[in-house]
Amino acid sequence: MVLEELTPTIEELKRVLEGKADEETIVRELDTYINVYRSTVDAAKRGIIRKYGGDELEFVSGESVKKKIEQVRGDEQNVDLLVKIVHVEEREITARGESKTILSGILGDETGTIPFTSWETGRFSLDKGATYNVRSAYAKTWNDRPQINFGKRTEVEKDESSIDVPQRVISYSSKEAKVAELMDGMSNVSVTAKLLSIMPKDINVKGEPRTIFTGTLADDSGKVEFSSWVEFPHETGEVLRIENAYVRAFRGIPQLNLGDRVSVTRVDDDIGDLQELTSSTPRTISDLETVGGGLDVLVRGSLVDIRNGSGLIKRCPECRRSVLNDECITHGRVQAQPDLRIKAVLDDGTGALTCIVNRELSESLSGISMEEAMRMTEEHHDPDVVAKEMESRLLAKKAEMRGNVVSDEYGMMMIVQECGPVTVDVKAGARELLAKLEAML
Ligand SMILES: [Zn+2]
Repeated sequence: MVLEELTPTIEELKRVLEGKADEETIVRELDTYINVYRSTVDAAKRGIIRKYGGDELEFVSGESVKKKIEQVRGDEQNVDLLVKIVHVEEREITARGESKTILSGILGDETGTIPFTSWETGRFSLDKGATYNVRSAYAKTWNDRPQINFGKRTEVEKDESSIDVPQRVISYSSKEAKVAELMDGMSNVSVTAKLLSIMPKDINVKGEPRTIFTGTLADDSGKVEFSSWVEFPHETGEVLRIENAYVRAFRGIPQLNLGDRVSVTRVDDDIGDLQELTSSTPRTISDLETVGGGLDVLVRGSLVDIRNGSGLIKRCPECRRSVLNDECITHGRVQAQPDLRIKAVLDDGTGALTCIVNRELSESLSGISMEEAMRMTEEHHDPDVVAKEMESRLLAKKAEMRGNVVSDEYGMMMIVQECGPVTVDVKAGARELLAKLEAML
């Protein structure tokens, strides 16, 4: 790619980095990412912003996600919506001592309604009842309810289609979903999936002992853990039709819950060996972002960053937290133990994901053993030498990572259970992974 085509990208990076890197540096970095590492332009931008400490959240031209109103969670940085203006009014507000006119009202689509505020008034007009294609809006939470904001980068364009907004979105009919589409907050949801594991679990609810059932379900899109709060007389291998379940995030991963209103029936479909299928079918990072995580997920991409905290680290022997200078924030002065870790950023072209790789996998991924890492550190008198060496070996390499993807207020993260370079023979790679998995059980 020639640099002339990258002029808007260079300008954008200059703006986002706010002087943290000059134009010459930006051009050099872009050239390296794109022409040497063969990164996509978006991956290059994200990598450069991370490297020079720009605010990634301010960075606007990453891929936006297209959502329906019911899917808006309130933390979207860049979201596209097709909506009808249910209500709109001008309001006077005072911002930084100046009075300003903004627009606020209600947006609707066939899945529901949501309040919105437009901080921009001059660039577009919004007619009540008309449909608009909204690009690059952002969402925030106000009083526990998500709302949409139109800002400087938001584009609004009238659309000829018409949308039926439901009067009130209380639907008693169940919504059909694939396992990979299940996200926190969904209710009345139906899935058809195979039971991979099931276990009774004794818990306490308000002082009363109670037995619930937990396990794993899968369809051809992915796997999900579930909890059944009602009797669950089914066995591993059965294909089940589950209606009127609901989804809540549990430890950062969407989990299916079967409550009083659920109906579970056995269906005779043979949906194949899902364990193998879901272990070998990669998910995209943007899809994982939409639903907020996933169980036992495979992602393929390029390693675009090796983050701080990678390499040879020290841990508190009591709580396993990483410590600096043998000082644990909980346990005080401790005899810290060495450990090896990689915090790698994997980019699959739809988004980026931080992957936490444990000692054993870090050793095989980087080819640096713990003993070598300790020797290198001692020889060079440099605590970062291992991380630097890992970076030079791994950056821009294609890799696949499998593990649970969890999300919290800092974003998404994969706790890696399997990783390696991308194998050309996908099927064989999947079988190998499966064999390894089975050997571990
Ligand atoms: Zn500790």
